[in-house]
Amino acid sequence: MDTEAIVLDCSDHGEADIIVTLFCRDVGRLTAIAKSAKKSQKRFVNKLEPFSFLNISYNRKNNRNLAFLAEADLLASFINIRQDLELYALASIIDEFLLLGISEGEPDEKTFRLTLWALHSLDRKDQPRAILALFLIRYFDYLGYRPDLDICRACQTPVTPERRYTFHPGGGRILCSACSGDAGTRGRELSHGTLKILKAAQDCPLARLHRLKLAGPVLSEALALLHHYGRTIFQREINSWKTMQKYIGG
Ligand SMILES: [Zn+2]
Repeated sequence: MDTEAIVLDCSDHGEADIIVTLFCRDVGRLTAIAKSAKKSQKRFVNKLEPFSFLNISYNRKNNRNLAFLAEADLLASFINIRQDLELYALASIIDEFLLLGISEGEPDEKTFRLTLWALHSLDRKDQPRAILALFLIRYFDYLGYRPDLDICRACQTPVTPERRYTFHPGGGRILCSACSGDAGTRGRELSHGTLKILKAAQDCPLARLHRLKLAGPVLSEALALLHHYGRTIFQREINSWKTMQKYIGG
C-alpha cells in the first residue's frame, strides 16, 4: 500500500531496525517497522525523523498491529524546524497532541491537511507561536471539542463588547460576567481581542489561516487557554509544553 505520511515518533529496535509511528493520509495512525533501517542507508537515511513528510509503501500481514515499511520517499524534511530550538519545541507540541488524539484505522483528511499546513508554516518561521495557537483551536474542533465562543452558555446571549467573559475548559464554554458570578473565579478571563481571533480561526478557510495575526498579550492569552483546554481534554500534562517553557520560556 502507498500513502503520504508524517513521522510522529521513531525508536530504535534491536541492532538494525527502527520502529516508526506515522500519521498516514489513508489510515490515520500507523506503527511500522523499518527492517535494517540503520544499515540500509540508501532506503531510509534522513527520512525516518520526527516531522518528516514522506511517501511510503508498507504492507501489513493479517491485520497485525505492526506494519512493515518497505520504502519511503522524502516529500519535505522541514530543515528549519530541525535546526531551530523554538520551532522544534513548537512542532513537538503539535506532535504530542497528534499522538494523543489520532487513532489507528481512522483517516482524518482535515487534521492531516492542518498538520501539513502547520509544519510548512513553522518551517517558514512565520509567527511560529501563533501557528501553534491556530493549529490547536482547529485541531480540538476536528476532534469534537469545538469551544462555543459565540454565546454565553448560561444566558444564551451573543457575545457583546459590553460584557466580560471567562472560558471554562470543562465544557469548552464561555460565561458572561452577568452569569459567571463567583464561578468566574474558576474560569479563565478572556479578552475580546482573543475571543475574536479564536472565533475567526475556527471558521477561516485553511488557505487563509496564516493571515490571522496573533501577537503580544492576545497570543499569550490564547496559548495559555489552549494549553489549559488541551490538558482538560486529554486529562494529562503535555510534556513537550513543559519542555518549551523550561528551555525557551512562554
Ligand atoms: Zn450570560
